Amino acid sequence: MGQGSEKVETLLAAMAHDCTSCGECVRPCAFLQQQGTPAQIARQGVTPAVLLSAYGCSLCGLCDAVCPELLSPSSMFLAMRQQAASRKLFDLKPYQPWLTYEKLGSHPFFRRDLIPVGCTTVFFPGCSLPGTRPEAVRGLYRLLQQQDTTIGLVLDCCGKISHDLGLTDCFEMIFMKLAHRLQAKGITRILTACPGCSKILRKHGSAFEVTSVYEELLEGQGLKEQGQGSGVKGQKTEATDLAPCPLPLDPAVVVIHDPCPARFDHAQQQAVRTLTTAVGYTIKEIPSHGATTRCCGQGGMVEGCVPGTVKKESRLIAAETGGSPVVSSCGACCETLAPTTPTAHIADLLTDTGSFTTQPISSPKRWLNRLKLRFSRLS
Ligand code: SF4
Ligand code: SF4
Repeated sequence: MGQGSEKVETLLAAMAHDCTSCGECVRPCAFLQQQGTPAQIARQGVTPAVLLSAYGCSLCGLCDAVCPELLSPSSMFLAMRQQAASRKLFDLKPYQPWLTYEKLGSHPFFRRDLIPVGCTTVFFPGCSLPGTRPEAVRGLYRLLQQQDTTIGLVLDCCGKISHDLGLTDCFEMIFMKLAHRLQAKGITRILTACPGCSKILRKHGSAFEVTSVYEELLEGQGLKEQGQGSGVKGQKTEATDLAPCPLPLDPAVVVIHDPCPARFDHAQQQAVRTLTTAVGYTIKEIPSHGATTRCCGQGGMVEGCVPGTVKKESRLIAAETGGSPVVSSCGACCETLAPTTPTAHIADLLTDTGSFTTQPISSPKRWLNRLKLRFSRLS
């Protein structure tokens, strides 16, 4: 705890010194508009009230993306959360639904390791995709198997909820269990569908090479040349193994919502765009995309202390779309954005297992979907 306290004090002192209070990060952020610039917050010192204020920050990283001084206020706010949690300053009660979701998701009853002989790479779909789109998980797995017959499938939780709440011990317990188990089974490469899992696994799972399933499909389908990535491998220019897309939209123009955990993951963003184009859609970019994308409102579980955040933030994104339907690579973003604008997960389109919807999936249905996937025949 002493070490954590020193860390947060050092971060606050550096922010108080380096941040010029230019206001660039304040303009797009409701939290900073209320609390002041990162320097103003840091200068208040490490008091319980200041530490607890960090639970109003979604950890979305937009401030990091726009800061002309290349500072990372989001790292400071995460450290403040960690310090508040280690000093047991914050009340866990409002966050119980998220913590229960995480606890069940990493329970053996919902976990599954499908590791074929010779497997060193696994598909890790995370929690929200299996809960909302089990058929899309199956479809993605089938596409991956066409590219590599030894590919495995792991259903588990990466611990992002505890990580973001600052519950370091709890996060480490969940994450290390997962990492040690996969290492013991000889896994060296993980393909993620959820940008949140990608971020956590890259930050903490140094034993693994982590790639999004979208980049892997792009490579396997021979579509790399349409993206901006290097290393062209395929000769095909059409997504011949991808499900034929019924294109329910006319005109077939969609907006891509880049999830905030992937704001600095250009390769993943580009892969989603190329795949969306490959199944027949035309993309309209909105101002909030790429590195400066907006959080859908779910980030950091701010809703736990500022009710109404999800509705407010998702409406801001919907307003930018001008009525065009949205495609995203994050199951949680899709569920959040659906009530405000028709939304599809890129996996729906790639596997032809779903389409644009305004109906989020209920919580009981999500658990049922996860259970069915957990116990279904997959090979
Ligand atoms: S991480 Fe997001 S919510 Fe937090 S201060 Fe930065 S821009 Fe605002
Ligand atoms: S953009 Fe950077 S320098 Fe400007 S107020 Fe925000 S943290 Fe400070």
